[in-house]
Amino acid sequence: MKKKYEAMVLSCIDPRCQSKVYNILKKKKLTNKYSAFNIAGAAIGVTANQFKNWHKVFWSNLDISIKLHGIKKLIVFNHTDCGAAKIANGKKEFSIKNENKIHQISFNKIKSKLLKKHPNFKIEFKIIKV
Ligand SMILES: [Zn+2]
Repeated sequence: MKKKYEAMVLSCIDPRCQSKVYNILKKKKLTNKYSAFNIAGAAIGVTANQFKNWHKVFWSNLDISIKLHGIKKLIVFNHTDCGAAKIANGKKEFSIKNENKIHQISFNKIKSKLLKKHPNFKIEFKIIKV
């Protein structure tokens, strides 16, 4: 039977994020109501060219969670000072401006791809300060 859950949560593997993500979701009363996909960089890991081999794994997992858990929302937590953002930034200076740009690009890419596949899907983005 398809159970009703709320969302898939996409967040980074960074140890500094874990309790923050958990607590934000707890405040939203989502504990035990979401599936979790952790990958370096969160939205950056599933959109940036540097991590091309990872992208398909995320979308396949999202599809499975839609089938198994009936989710209709993706919640994305990127974070400041992310190692994957630094890799995506390449040789440019890792300024706050460039860092924010990398987050925005990853959010835009994931949103357009998601809505192409699932036009009614909801999506939320947040950048956690670590
Ligand atoms: Zn990170």
